[in-house]
Amino acid sequence: MLNDKIFGFDISGFQISDNYRDMRIGQSLLEWGASVPALFFPRNCVVCGNSLFTREQLICLSCRVHLPVSGHWLEPDNKTARVFYGRVDFYHCSSYLLYRKGNSTQKLIHALKYKGVPEAGEFLGAAFGLVLRQSGVLGEVDGIVPVPLHPKKERKRGYNQSVMIARGLSAQLKVPVMDKLVVRRTHSQSQTKKDRYSRWENARDRFVLKGRNLRPGMHLLLVDDVITTGSTLEALAQTLTGVEGIKISAVSIGFSC
Ligand SMILES: [Zn+2]
Repeated sequence: MLNDKIFGFDISGFQISDNYRDMRIGQSLLEWGASVPALFFPRNCVVCGNSLFTREQLICLSCRVHLPVSGHWLEPDNKTARVFYGRVDFYHCSSYLLYRKGNSTQKLIHALKYKGVPEAGEFLGAAFGLVLRQSGVLGEVDGIVPVPLHPKKERKRGYNQSVMIARGLSAQLKVPVMDKLVVRRTHSQSQTKKDRYSRWENARDRFVLKGRNLRPGMHLLLVDDVITTGSTLEALAQTLTGVEGIKISAVSIGFSC
């Protein structure tokens, strides 16, 4: 475990994993000499590529005001919620941004997943967390559950993008991230049949409930990066539905439309 201060810059609030922290320390040593914010955020807008002003982080003001905000969280019968009708009974379900090929949401998610910019997850999670908190639509939440990544993929990426989003939400909602509650089943644990039907049928067996600190009537908020078919969040919700009186909500940053 490393000290929470790097070059006198307090990073305790970032709650980043040791793995990721090691990686960034390596980078920050290379970049030392640049201004302090450059240690943690790229200095070009991840959407348009223009240089950022000192007080801008991750995306420029112009791209920020033009984000395709969905407003889905303000209406119970929204397009994200409709994806799960007849499949899962969520207390609340919404996405923050509309996700289309080539749009700014896609660029932000791409930076988060494939360009080694985990800060994009915390940034987006906090932005969504703020409007969710202000609207009061979630009511009391007891824990935030990010979609687990396959361990192999997480090792390769250095972090789980949904955990990053969950941390941003957690900072705004003041609710703990429960990223050890559910784990993804590894290939050796899952059935090896390869035909499409059995894969579909086993979707609900993708995750295993590990945590024992659940109590009846808890309200859990599931978090994914983008909702397309909804099958991942459906499978995750099914892993938790056995808990007595449990209330489940689900949110994502992007809604694929
Ligand atoms: Zn920009």
